[in-house]
Amino acid sequence: EKKPRSLLYLDGVSVSFDGFKALNSLSFIVEPGELRAIIGPNGAGKTTMMDIITGKTRPDEGEVYFRGDIDLTQKDEAEIAQLGIGRKFQKPTVFENHTVWDNLELALNRRRGVFATLFYRLTGEDRARIEEILSTVRLTARRDDLAANLSHGQKQWLEIGMLLAQEPELLLVDEPVAGMTDAETAETAILLKEIARTRSVVVVEHDMGFVRELGVKVTCLAEGSVLAEGSIDFVSNDPKVIENYLGR
Ligand code: ADP
Repeated sequence: EKKPRSLLYLDGVSVSFDGFKALNSLSFIVEPGELRAIIGPNGAGKTTMMDIITGKTRPDEGEVYFRGDIDLTQKDEAEIAQLGIGRKFQKPTVFENHTVWDNLELALNRRRGVFATLFYRLTGEDRARIEEILSTVRLTARRDDLAANLSHGQKQWLEIGMLLAQEPELLLVDEPVAGMTDAETAETAILLKEIARTRSVVVVEHDMGFVRELGVKVTCLAEGSVLAEGSIDFVSNDPKVIENYLGR
């Protein structure tokens, strides 16, 4: 049953806070190169699951493996980030007073352990990578603009770009399209699909139109475990999903 070659493997993961089971024997598998959407009501355990994967929270029970045999329950947050798991929180945290380019340069330097400095000399390869990321996150034309002058959606894209500069093998993205325009939301679906060509992406999102646009496997969580998993049509027609989430 165990799939040792999965990129991410969670099985029987439980965690309680003051006797309340935030995760209840959760099983969740992500394959290399997969883009997966996570849905579910508030309090379902989506954030806690991300906290477990990134080492912010330790499970009381269960297995959490990365790249087959790396036991994430034995690693701390910094080690897990170093292993190649990147996380984007809902609120963008870009450096507002730096240009788009400098934000990406800072992110690239951070990967080398050179913190918050622009004085590290970029190689030609670094520059090419930044150009590539700019193009991926639709910000080539804004490269010399201050991050403060970007739209909310563009700041989200820039932060995704900053995570890409760290070359994660697995990218966890929390509600990227909240507050975006319809055009930005549609573009974000395309952008995440492009990113998932070279790495795995797990995206938590409440916007069902956006999840439908992604057109990928969906996992619906409720009360700390998986309620339904499959195509958006399969999941959104599941009576349990309608009762616990969509019908609310
Ligand atoms: P979701 O992200 O799906 O809305 P969460 O993972 O944030 O759900 O929360 C699941 C449940 O666990 C909620 O009832 C929440 O209040 C609780 N919870 C999460 N983290 C903590 C914590 N650090 N301390 C106490 N309770 C928590």
